[in-house]
Amino acid sequence: MARHVTTTIQQALEEIQAAGLRYTGEGLPPMVPVTLTFPTECVECGRPRRSNLNRIRSGLNCPHLFVKADVAEQLAAKAGWKPRKPYPGARSIPWALACINCSLPIVLTLTQVLARKKTCRCPAFVEEMRAGGYEPQTPYPGSDRKPWPSICTTCKTPRTPYLMTVRSGRLCAHKNPPSHKAKGTP
Ligand SMILES: [Zn+2]
Ligand SMILES: [Zn+2]
Ligand SMILES: [Zn+2]
Repeated sequence: MARHVTTTIQQALEEIQAAGLRYTGEGLPPMVPVTLTFPTECVECGRPRRSNLNRIRSGLNCPHLFVKADVAEQLAAKAGWKPRKPYPGARSIPWALACINCSLPIVLTLTQVLARKKTCRCPAFVEEMRAGGYEPQTPYPGSDRKPWPSICTTCKTPRTPYLMTVRSGRLCAHKNPPSHKAKGTP
């Protein structure tokens, strides 16, 4: 028996279900050839579709799931991501994206993008800077070893600390405090 050209009925049914389809046929063989065409319907919209495991694996499922590249990019942008590579053409295929805010790379399927469960780590990094006494003035620079323009919340001086040094507990030296003269004093 050749490998990879058949799969167990159990696994086939799991793959069909994971693709958002329901098997509507009369019974699959115990070992399902990946090219065997069988009837399915879309769980979400009920549209019948003849498919096979090869097509299901490549993300070619119900047409109602198909999204044009420009629409996919708009949906991604709403969720805070920009493409690093063109939309792969199906919701279930991993797509190379980056955070719109800080450009940190991430790989998500469009389904994951729409679920909005994955978020960039950069808001947590901003919180780390604030806990260390700095208010960042620009998005996360993409590395904890790159200078991050910030203002010391104590002495209000612009600084360029690294997140790495803030993490290590090194604080602003407060060498250039602003004048504390109140307005109107001689
Ligand atoms: Zn559908
Ligand atoms: Zn980010
Ligand atoms: Zn300071």
